[in-house]
Amino acid sequence: MKPFRYERASGIASACASAAQPAAKFIAGGTNLVDLMKLEIETPSHLVDINALPLGGIEETPEHGLRIGALVTNSSVAADMNVRRKYPLLSQAILAGASGQLRNKATTGGNLLQRTRCPYFYDTTKPCNKRAPGSGCAALHGLNRMNAVLGVSDNCIAANPSDMGVAMAALDARVETVASDGATRTIPIDTLYRAPGDTPNIETVLQPGELIRSVVLPPPPPGQQIYRKVRERASYEFALVSVAAIVAHDNNRIQSARIAFGGLSYKPWRSAEAESALSGATLMRQSYDAAGTAALKNARGYGYNDFKIPLARRTLRAVLAEATGTI
Ligand code: SF4
Repeated sequence: MKPFRYERASGIASACASAAQPAAKFIAGGTNLVDLMKLEIETPSHLVDINALPLGGIEETPEHGLRIGALVTNSSVAADMNVRRKYPLLSQAILAGASGQLRNKATTGGNLLQRTRCPYFYDTTKPCNKRAPGSGCAALHGLNRMNAVLGVSDNCIAANPSDMGVAMAALDARVETVASDGATRTIPIDTLYRAPGDTPNIETVLQPGELIRSVVLPPPPPGQQIYRKVRERASYEFALVSVAAIVAHDNNRIQSARIAFGGLSYKPWRSAEAESALSGATLMRQSYDAAGTAALKNARGYGYNDFKIPLARRTLRAVLAEATGTI
């Protein structure tokens, strides 16, 4: 590991100013960053520890949603009674991720900013445009079973690994930030992440020194909430495909649906196509399959991950059947 300067921040403004310096980074739980530093994939010269900042609470918003501080651990979010009562989807998604020990350390802000688990990103003997811009993409013609099929480019087919983010995408979460000049902004989670294009090393719209303060969940929409994750083993594994769904229906038709996928793209992938196909649809398998076809119509497999496309369709069908009681 390369030497670095360590600073324990005591205020938000000073933390942002420090992290805006070249090669500086925030650290909170460190569950991803420290591993990357040991491998010298991340080589910050200055770490700004934000754990002492007052960003550790969960509070109700005036519009009866929730504001989750960036430093609230994944375990605390999953166990919070308001989250479990109003946003069970989010609790399910978090508990489907990582392990108990990791969830006890990992934070809300850090979960959203964790790096991909593409194996070539972690293998410093292989080309990787995300790690070393311009070097190529070993996954494109390599073992790309875990990689993405939607929204990516031939420069990088890495998948976003977060479960929590998929639930937050379905819930229309908004990310609140503060910049090094004190400016604040609110970013819909769907626009937090940048498509890889030809700069896959730049992953979000956040500027140097811009800190995630909190995530706001609007009041939940009506309907059954389900998070289903398909993975290689039953625990401590990233999603091959996951589906977050919020579905309201009457006896015969779907009234409204929100659908987001994990494991398929560079970001938690909200599917307007599936939602449109489901609006007013009859509660039957053909409707669910039509939604899956619409959601995956622009998907492209890269060989070993071709299976994700039919798997995503089938997972969506199963989730819709469960949500509507039409199994
Ligand atoms: Fe690197 Fe992205 Fe290619 Fe993986 S998919 S090797 S992260 S450029």
